[in-house]
Amino acid sequence: MCGIIGYTGPRKALPILMQGLRLLEYRGYDSSGVALAGEGGLRTFKKAGKLEKLEEALPASSAAKAGIGHTRWATHGVVSDENAHPHLGPAGKVAIVHNGIVDNWVELKRELEAQGAVFASGTDSEIIAHLVERQLKDREPAEAVAAALSQIEGTYGIACVFADKPGLIVAARNGSPLAVGIGDGETFVASDPSAFSAHTRQAVFLHDGELVILEPKRWETRTLRGEKVDKRPETIPESAGQADKGVHPDFFLKEVYEQPQAVSRALGNGGRLVRDFGAAKLGGLDLEPRDLHNISEVVFIAMGSALHAAMVGKAMVEAWARIPARTEDASEYRSGVPLVKADALYVAVSQSGETADTIAAIKEIQVKGGRTIGIINAVGSTLARLCGSGAYVHAGPELSVAASKSYTSQIVACALLALSLGRARHLSLAEGRELVDELAALPEKLEAALVLRPRMEEIARSLKGASSVMFLGRGFMLPAAMEGALKLKELSYIHAEGFSGGALKHGPLALVGPEVPTFALLATGESFGKTLSNMSEVRARGGRVIAIVNGEEERAREAADEVVVVPSSIEALAPVIEAIPLQLLARAAASELGRDVDRPRNLAKSVTTE
Ligand code: GLU
Repeated sequence: MCGIIGYTGPRKALPILMQGLRLLEYRGYDSSGVALAGEGGLRTFKKAGKLEKLEEALPASSAAKAGIGHTRWATHGVVSDENAHPHLGPAGKVAIVHNGIVDNWVELKRELEAQGAVFASGTDSEIIAHLVERQLKDREPAEAVAAALSQIEGTYGIACVFADKPGLIVAARNGSPLAVGIGDGETFVASDPSAFSAHTRQAVFLHDGELVILEPKRWETRTLRGEKVDKRPETIPESAGQADKGVHPDFFLKEVYEQPQAVSRALGNGGRLVRDFGAAKLGGLDLEPRDLHNISEVVFIAMGSALHAAMVGKAMVEAWARIPARTEDASEYRSGVPLVKADALYVAVSQSGETADTIAAIKEIQVKGGRTIGIINAVGSTLARLCGSGAYVHAGPELSVAASKSYTSQIVACALLALSLGRARHLSLAEGRELVDELAALPEKLEAALVLRPRMEEIARSLKGASSVMFLGRGFMLPAAMEGALKLKELSYIHAEGFSGGALKHGPLALVGPEVPTFALLATGESFGKTLSNMSEVRARGGRVIAIVNGEEERAREAADEVVVVPSSIEALAPVIEAIPLQLLARAAASELGRDVDRPRNLAKSVTTE
């Protein structure tokens, strides 16, 4: 969600900023812009729509050696050229880009208007430009930015350039990520280091309440109160920023196909599985068997696909470790006053590690003395740092807005946690070994499930006239159904809902008819028979049922119009394998309808605003 890039150095800034914006595109945006700082002052170029629109509006070249760029995901103010960032102060002395939300923008705007200010946009962000410019009258730029930010309530990552100091960038963070790149005689700032990693792999990460002053050969970090903060540059991984679709038409499909390798990495390429002890080894967890033994409850905190992965994790913890577990929608959890227990384990699950609601929930849990760990994909992200310990998912960069490999890998990481908890409690060596074997076999089964692509494309074509699509499952397969529905709606914009087989008769059955197909997700085990009954109920009312099963195909055929078979596994791991046909289905439906598969409308990759 929203991308910021800034550059100052000896080279022409514009191509570097545009390259950075391209690399930030995956985060999702609706408009973009750049501000160039040169001898003649500040020049801004901004456009609603894709980066191509901005490119058309740019000068053929610019000598400016410093500048900032932004991809906007509108929160306040419609999507328009005027509302795109950067925003200039009224006298053009400062240009700012902002990621986040100014909560007190109405009050501030009223105050400024009462003093004669005229605004050029309908955004909350432009207020920051006005406030900074006022402070610039009697302060140095960094102090002016800090003074302006002290008036702001809300979240921000911001970067500013100044008409009177063309080589200077000041950036600050409170709640939205910012990384600083330290090159040879040049410096960068970006929401995500992949935006500058082609130029330097030396980075420092800002924390909330910190500000950075950037010049070509100098960088300095301070708190917003002006105290110096010493930071050492870290080397960021090479893979960041080397995004390439390979032979695939889009990142989503590429990432779907990467799942066997991604899941294998989540399993530490086998290194996180200890067959002799029927156990898992999660080095980053920092919890001894005694600690694991004493945990009274496991609470997973997540949003979106990560929440669905966490729901599978919850069921695993209860089944394997016999510890009460639950999942919490992070945004709802932090809206109340959470009851935090000292002997519970709070697990943040997030792909980006920047999900604003999950971060806020974890902070609140920590304030109340809760023990937190993270199951995170993005190394070095805010949540990974905040949680302190946990397990990286190692799915690799995921650039499509819709999650695929991060989701399946998160389930696997949850499985390793559940196995660790289970072995520290009731789970026997033999049971542990069986789970280790099942987990080890997953990558191969995912590979085998990928052959379903033509079949799912054919089914997707038949969804064209559907007014809505239902996904149902029970037990482990409920989160799988919810994720299947989420994938279809976010990629194809076809309305879809996932719910439990039990919930069917409490409402959704009223929707059933020939134009509302139902996908039933089955896994051999406890709930198979009950889901079969639900399928029959749908068919008895003229609904078409497509079953996805990991075994007992003949039994499923009795109650389905069509049956898609995936490789067999234990019930708990069926959500990982059945995710593949559902992802292929959603992608095929999206491309049938001509959707932008990687960048669905209105959505952003990492939801960094609340
Ligand atoms: N709230 C700002 C706006 O709507 C920033 C949104 C963003 O983070 O992209 O312009």
